[in-house]
Amino acid sequence: MSYEIAEVHALEILDSRARPTLEVSLRLSNGPVVSAGVPSGASTGTREAVELRDGDQKRFKGQGVSKAVNNVNTEISSLLSGRSWASLAELDRAMIELDGTDNKARLGANAIVGTSMAAARAMATVAGQPLYRWLSPQGAELRLPVPHFNVVNGGAHAQNDLEFQEFMLAPIGLPTFAEALRAGAEIYQALRSLLHSRKHSTGLGDEGGFAPNLGTPEEVLDLLVEAINSAGYAPGAQGVAIALDPAASEMHEPDGSYRYSPGHRFSTAEMIARYETLVANYPIWSIEDGLAEDDWDGWEKLTARLGGRAQLVGDDVFVTNPSIIREAIGRKVGNSALIKLNQIGTVSETLEAIAICNEAGYTQMVSHRSGETPDSFIADLAVAVGCGQLKTGAPARGERVAKYNRLLAIEAELANAPYGLPARR
Ligand code: PGA
Ligand code: ZN
Repeated sequence: MSYEIAEVHALEILDSRARPTLEVSLRLSNGPVVSAGVPSGASTGTREAVELRDGDQKRFKGQGVSKAVNNVNTEISSLLSGRSWASLAELDRAMIELDGTDNKARLGANAIVGTSMAAARAMATVAGQPLYRWLSPQGAELRLPVPHFNVVNGGAHAQNDLEFQEFMLAPIGLPTFAEALRAGAEIYQALRSLLHSRKHSTGLGDEGGFAPNLGTPEEVLDLLVEAINSAGYAPGAQGVAIALDPAASEMHEPDGSYRYSPGHRFSTAEMIARYETLVANYPIWSIEDGLAEDDWDGWEKLTARLGGRAQLVGDDVFVTNPSIIREAIGRKVGNSALIKLNQIGTVSETLEAIAICNEAGYTQMVSHRSGETPDSFIADLAVAVGCGQLKTGAPARGERVAKYNRLLAIEAELANAPYGLPARR
């Protein structure tokens, strides 16, 4: 099958944080117009593909994306339109070559990833397949992922004193996605009641989780366990476990120490010891970015010490980059990768990163960004690759719920698809 592109067009729209982003619309000659919304992070890894922003302080304080929009409407459109493409990989490669840099800085990773996502959606449509099936690599099993609900927000996503960025509920022990979603919603409501009754703020952070002014991770974890129990679920692997994303690159000081909580700074060794205590005392099954992106020696030690007991997910440290993930595998850094399309900048490179993880036995968690649109592409991606894990914020706020609701629809459509973590190979 080959795909002939008739038109590509981008528009500057707003994301969930009142910042501009791109919507890319694309039409194949024998198909309808489809579009894709581009996500955007706040606690970004330094080695991520470059999001092109205008820098014009008179518009959106420099955050406009009119240059990236223009790049889609001129250079990318002339490259792609009126030609037949054998595959998405071929089209993605052509955009990478046109860009000419090693981090997509010239055309913008935001311009390129939006086009790549829209092209995938258009190709699936003319192939007559749902996106999750069309994207699915050969040999992969379609599988509903465990949703990771970020119900308490701190770090760069909230204006409170919490240094850890994300506290997530992971219903790994529930039988279906629909029941996992229900658990997430019920525990979220229970948590709101608990916070309210203790006179804590129930205001929300960027990903729809509560942003109470608590200081230590332990205080939040105690509350989460209480909320899980009060909603009638079992904390832990048989019911609802907890996942953390400290986003430690944001906590890292120039002297190498980490800000753990107000008044507490720890060395790398002390951080590792803390995580061991947390994993021993709470039903924590996964820790993402427990150490900073430039602390690879620390990551090696963390993995050696805790890798047998917890999933250790690399986000800022791997940035969905196939060559960085290869290096990490060689050095036994982490045992899992966070997967974000816009960190690497094309759908095909994202699938390559996932394939490399699978070969090495590294698990994967597909992820949204803190700045989102209602596009539910990542829900289809998670099902397609069968990794069994997705994080896309709280079960609240339209741009987060859009992904969870899309998974409900996919589960209904697939009837017999399995839910949850795949068996470790
Ligand atoms: P970001 O945060 O989208 O702001 O980078 C998400 C994460 O750190 O996982
Ligand atoms: Zn992260």
